[in-house]
Amino acid sequence: MSLTSKSIGMLLEIKDPNIIFTQDAILEEIQGTTALVLYAELKTRPERCPVCGFLSKLVRYGFERSCVLMPSYSYRPNYLKLSRQRFRCELCRSVFQSETDYVRPHSTISTPVRQMVLFEALTNRSLSDIARHFHVADKTVQRIIDEEAARHNYNQKLWLPKHLAFDEFKATNKMSLIWGDGDRHEIGAILPARTSYALTKYFEGFPLSVRQQVQTVSLDLNAGYINLIPRLFPNAKVVVDRFHIVQMVSTALNMVRVQVMKSLPKRSKEYRFMKREWKVFLKDFNELEANKPTYHVSVGYYETTVNLVAKCLDLNPEFRAAYEVYQGVLGAVRSRDAVALETVLENYRSLGNRMDQSIKTLKKYKKQVGNALRYDYSNGFLEGINSLIKKIKNTAYGYTNWRNFINRIFLERVWFRVKNEKARA
Ligand SMILES: [Zn+2]
Repeated sequence: MSLTSKSIGMLLEIKDPNIIFTQDAILEEIQGTTALVLYAELKTRPERCPVCGFLSKLVRYGFERSCVLMPSYSYRPNYLKLSRQRFRCELCRSVFQSETDYVRPHSTISTPVRQMVLFEALTNRSLSDIARHFHVADKTVQRIIDEEAARHNYNQKLWLPKHLAFDEFKATNKMSLIWGDGDRHEIGAILPARTSYALTKYFEGFPLSVRQQVQTVSLDLNAGYINLIPRLFPNAKVVVDRFHIVQMVSTALNMVRVQVMKSLPKRSKEYRFMKREWKVFLKDFNELEANKPTYHVSVGYYETTVNLVAKCLDLNPEFRAAYEVYQGVLGAVRSRDAVALETVLENYRSLGNRMDQSIKTLKKYKKQVGNALRYDYSNGFLEGINSLIKKIKNTAYGYTNWRNFINRIFLERVWFRVKNEKARA
C-alpha cells in the first residue's frame, strides 16, 4: 500500500487529526531557498466563542493561510502552508481562527520545531549554529528560548524557600547573584547585580511575611551582603559554607608555607618536599602515613610522610602553629563539632603571618561559622551551575545581553532539570 496521510502526519510530528492535506507536496521557492511545501487545511470549529464564551452562533469567515516551518529531514526546509478556517462570533463580532497544538496562533514555527530548538539549546551550541540547522534567524532561536522563559515565571515575588542559598558568578562582564532552594537544590532566580542596593530592592519586593519564613541563608564568608541578611530575613540563621571555611584557612596555610620556603635554599630537602608535596600539608594529619616509610622523590629516600611533615614544621614555630590551627579547623568542620571549632578560634594567638587574617574573619562571624556545623544546609549545590555557566560561555558564545544569557542558563539548568551537580563536602 502507499503511504497514507497518517504516515506523513506522523513523520512531520503532526498529531492533530484535524490538519488535512489538500494536495501533494511540491518544491517551491521560499525566502530564496527551494523548500518542500505541503498544503493542508484546518477547520476545527470551536465549541464556543473564545472571547465571549457564547455557545453556538459562530459563522465561517473565510480562511487565513500561514506558512509554517516544520521539521526537516534533508538539507532543505519543510513548510506547511496551512489554511485555517476563520470564524466570527455573531454576538461579540470577534474574529478568530481554528486552533491546533501544532502551531500557536499567529506563529510561523511549528511546535515540534520549537521543541527541537529548545532541545538543541541544551547542547551548548551557539545560537547561529542552531538557527542554521533549523532554517530560522538567530533572533528567532533566542525568541523561542525567551518565550519558554516567560512561561516559567521565575520573577515571582510571592514565595521563598525555607532554606535559601546564595552564590555569585561572573555572567556577561559583571558579577551576578544567584539564589537557590537549599532543600530542592534548584535555582530560584539570577539577579544582574550583587550590590547591597540591588539585593535589598529585589528581596524587599517579597512581602515581609514571606521573608519571615526563611529559616537559614547559606553563603560564602566573603559575600559583601552578609550583614544585610538579618534585615531582609529577620528569622533566618546565616550559615557559612563549610567548604569555604576550610578554604579560608587552607589558603592562609599555603601562604605561610610559601613564606617559609622563601627562607630556604632551593636545593634543601625541606624546600623540595614542600614544593612537590604541598598537598600533603592540607590533608588531615591523622590520615598521613605514620609507620611505613615510602620512597619520596622530592627528598630521595625512604621516610614516613609524618616524619617529613614534622621536619618541615620544625623549621618555623609560626608555621607549626598555623598548621595546627588548620588541622584544628579541618577536624572540627569534618566532625561537625561547633564547640571544638570555637575552642580553636578562642585559643588562637596572633602568629604574625597570613593565618591572622583568616582567623580574624572567622572570629568576626563566629556565630555564622558555628551555624555551618549545626545545620546541614550549604550553598555548595549552586557551585554545580558554575561549571555549566562556564561551558555555556565558552561554547554558546556571543552573549552580550545579560537577560538572554540568563534565559539560556535557566533553559539548560532548570526547565529541563539537567542534573549535573557534584556532591561536595
Ligand atoms: Zn463572542
